[in-house]
Order: sequence, then structure tokens, then C-alpha cells
Amino acid sequence: MTSSHRAVAIDGPAASGKSTVAKRLAASLGLVMVNSGAMYRAVTWQILQDGIDPADPEAVIQALAKMTIVCGMEEGLSTISINDRLLTSELRAPEVNDNVSKIASIPELRERLVAMQRAYLEETDVVMEGRDIGSVVFPETPFKIYIDASEEVRAARRSKDGEADAVAARDAQDSQRKVSPLKISEGAIVIDSSDLTIEGTVAAAHEALLKLGWED
Ligand code: C5P
Repeated sequence: MTSSHRAVAIDGPAASGKSTVAKRLAASLGLVMVNSGAMYRAVTWQILQDGIDPADPEAVIQALAKMTIVCGMEEGLSTISINDRLLTSELRAPEVNDNVSKIASIPELRERLVAMQRAYLEETDVVMEGRDIGSVVFPETPFKIYIDASEEVRAARRSKDGEADAVAARDAQDSQRKVSPLKISEGAIVIDSSDLTIEGTVAAAHEALLKLGWED
């Protein structure tokens, strides 16, 4: 890494608990938590808003050229605005869940968002969560964690949140795509959160960081 800042990379499938863990871990370590999935979701929301077919990569790429995407930070968390609109609850809409993996498989979009993800490290230490953080965004960081959970547990977590989200379908698309597929990156410590509480998973993640050479 060229930056003097540290990056903790947390990857894993949908609803594995990685966002909650990343948020708590970042708060306890005093780092900024960056939710990279929110960036892919924001672009998906805007594409749907513009009436563009998410399955038409050429149309998506054309629309992207006109989109102003701004990433920020507020109270220790990343923020995302598109065309001057700060996006929050829109990002969890069912139609975004249904289409985000299609949009996220477009290499040109990934390139643009990865550059914005890396830019955070110029400013601050981060805990960043996503699918390709350890493998593509920050391959050189020694601090890589992969959080998993069984498919049943993940589906149950989503429906408990009242969210319609076909996590298995999303994972299949995210793992099978050609560019930056979801995978356990080399050197990552894997934590299975199926039978762990949130506190237990955060503690396991902190322990993993210490094992990887992290100094609090
Ligand atoms: O993490 P979250 O479930 O919000 O991510 C939404 C979607 O964004 C994922 O299913 C995936 O298609 C895409 N994504 C990605 N790479 C990342 C983060 C998210 O492709 N680093």
C-alpha cells in the first residue's frame, strides 16, 4: 500500500453479518467504516430511477458517464450521494436487492467504484466491507477477514429484518461473475458467524486481527 493508513478488509456473502461487525469493529478501533455494497446499491438505484435496463451493460455504462457519484464520511461511516442526492433507506429497496448483482458485474463500473474505495485510505484508516476488498481493493493489506454463515441463517436474518432479499441468488451471481468474484482471499481468516452472537462475532474478528499482526 502506498498510503500510511491501515485497511481492514472484511468480505463475505450477503447477510453474513459483515456490515454490523464492520461497523462495531470500526467504532471500537476508532476507524471509519466503509460500506462498499452501498456504492453498488446507489448506482443500481439511480439506474432503475432513470428507467435503464440493468441487464443492458452498454446502456448502464452510458448512464454512468453522466452520473456524479460522491463518497463521503459522517460520524465514522461512509456516505454516498448520486447527482447531489444523499442515498440512505433507498439502498435497501427490494428492486435494488434484485438488480444490484447484475450492475456489479460490469467491469467499467467496478473500476470507477474501486478507485473511490481506495481513495478513502488517503484520508483515514478504514474497515471496509464488501466482496472483493481483500482480493482486489486492498490486496496488500495483511488484515483480511472473511465472515460466513450458513444459507439458512442468512436467509433467516434477512427476513427477520423484514427485507425481501434472495440472498442465495445474489451470492450465486456474485461468486460466479468473471470480474472480482466473491471469494476467500489468500491470507484471510474465516469466521463462521452462524452460531455466534453479534458480540461474539466482533470479538472473533478482533482476535483475528491481533493474530494477523494488528496493534490496537
Ligand atoms: O454488501 P451488500 O449486500 O450491500 O452488497 C450488495 C451487492 O453489491 C452485492 O450483492 C454485490 O453484487 C455487490 N458488491 C460487490 N462488491 C463489493 C460490495 C458489493 O460486487 N465490494
